Amino acid sequence: MDEKYDVMVVGGGAAGLSGALALSRARRSVLVVDDGAPRNARAGHVHNYLGREGVTSAELLAGGRAEVAGYGGQFRDGRVARAERVEDGFRVVLEDGGSVLARRLLVTTGLVDELPDIPGVAELFGSDVLHCPYCRGWEVRDQPVGILGGPFGAHQALMWRQWSADVTLFQHTGPALTDEELEQLAARGIPVVTGAVEGLELDRGRLAGVRLAGGAVVPRTALVVVPRFTARAGVLTSLGLETVPQEMNGNAVGSYVAADPAGATAVPGVWAAGNVADLRAQVISAAAAGLNTAAALNADLISEDVRLAVAARRLTAAHQFDEESWEERYRAQPAVWSGRPNAQLVAEASDLTPGSALDVGCGEGGDALWLAARGWEVTAVDFATAALERGAEQADALGADVAERIRWLHADVTGWAPDARFDLVSAQFMHLPGETRRALFARLAAAVAPGGTLLVVGHHPSDLETSAHRLHVPDMFFTAEEVADSLDGDQWDVLVTEARPRSAGDQARPRSAGDHEGAGITVRDAVLRARRRG
Ligand SMILES: Cc1cc2nc3c(=O)[nH]c(=O)nc-3n(C[C@H](O)[C@H](O)[C@H](O)COP(=O)(O)OP(=O)(O)OC[C@H]3O[C@@H](n4cnc5c(N)ncnc54)[C@H](O)[C@@H]3O)c2cc1C
Repeated sequence: MDEKYDVMVVGGGAAGLSGALALSRARRSVLVVDDGAPRNARAGHVHNYLGREGVTSAELLAGGRAEVAGYGGQFRDGRVARAERVEDGFRVVLEDGGSVLARRLLVTTGLVDELPDIPGVAELFGSDVLHCPYCRGWEVRDQPVGILGGPFGAHQALMWRQWSADVTLFQHTGPALTDEELEQLAARGIPVVTGAVEGLELDRGRLAGVRLAGGAVVPRTALVVVPRFTARAGVLTSLGLETVPQEMNGNAVGSYVAADPAGATAVPGVWAAGNVADLRAQVISAAAAGLNTAAALNADLISEDVRLAVAARRLTAAHQFDEESWEERYRAQPAVWSGRPNAQLVAEASDLTPGSALDVGCGEGGDALWLAARGWEVTAVDFATAALERGAEQADALGADVAERIRWLHADVTGWAPDARFDLVSAQFMHLPGETRRALFARLAAAVAPGGTLLVVGHHPSDLETSAHRLHVPDMFFTAEEVADSLDGDQWDVLVTEARPRSAGDQARPRSAGDHEGAGITVRDAVLRARRRG
């Protein structure tokens, strides 16, 4: 079986860890898969990260991992090869052959700096070969800095002049400089060296100079290059997304995967943050993007959770009155109810003289058995045969005295009318849609013999404001007063209309503790007791 998470974060750099932290704190199950190659690994230190200035990148990431793990986020070392959509999310396949399921993907795989193909440049990138003055400008301040010319040569040289007065622009293969650029460079004291750069001169592993075609070496301890910034987009392209070329002043500088300001890509459920979606992001801004994207992603999951809950609730509501579902519910467990009579039946019927009784929606017969044991001749009606059979077995077990006094009747009370009149008609917790319920109660009232008792009990609507997990369909709840109002005042004496408090534990139903009755709280029963005048 694949493991399944709410969110899989692909790439555990600044953006991924920050997103994972927010998502773990949002109580999402999160897996971060990372192959351990953050873009700035070779730089050693991270600058311009407020509060952590100069921290090593390894320390920052280790701290981030520990923070994520502290909130339950999980990690896996490895490289994600591709991802595919499955019914309720994504399957992510790792290069080691493993796969993981996740409802959402947060892709934070960063970018690759594609460097000019000049011997020595790749080796020194991150130490003496630089690309970003905000990352390393301070560290090479006042040193002899070279700028490798290209489309942005003059621009770069003028910028780095802010950090050192000793800046040289190597024209290399860059376009011819305009008169305006030459004037600006001259004004800022930046010499321009023509000719292609062939290689770097190293001294004990550090940059010593820039070697030109022809062999001349210009002493420099730092060289600035402009890499091509290519999004590490393999996981995203495997999902059908495409990279977008990034241009600057008409020159291609790299590629990224488009995401909206909240981090959503064009593939629903797939989010992206950090350098993969924004080539300019620094560590702190990649982390911020990870956080913002995580919040939007979590909001998306919350919407889905609500949609699913509504669908489940509608399904439950749709099956609430469905014979087959009740049948299934009874057959699935040895007993659904406790077997005890309902508290309000005991409270209201104990003082009645036994006669004939109708118990509608009798379930497994707790009330019918109690009535029969007290001498009532009971007709017990339900549409679940499994429940009726269980009731009959119980009756047999109690002895012929009880068993012979109960007639178990299979009928759907929503379309059924009693064929006789009874001294007691009891309807306990018949929660039906308003119209159907009112029609049933009218039929039940009509079935009460002169001098007989109508006892209607239900969950009071105020229960909906408690933590007792009632199905929140207000139309299915009623007060005793509403039932009383439906009775003809000339024919009935209403003896009890109450919202009677009851501790959730002390009722016949349901059987299991801590279920939808709610544990340790007070609920109210709507109790109507009325007597038909003789
Ligand atoms: C030399 C250098 C120095 C820098 N110095 C600074 C600085 O001082 N301050 C600053 O703010 N910024 C600096 N930066 C920029 C900084 O590196 C980025 O801003 C930052 O790394 C972006 O974070 P990210 O999370 O988007 O990507 P990354 O940090 O690159 O993290 C991406 C992660 O995803 C993983 N990954 C990629 N593909 C997969 C895959 N398929 N499966 C699993 N894992 C995958 C990678 O291994 C990596 O760990 C520097 C950059 C460079 C090149």
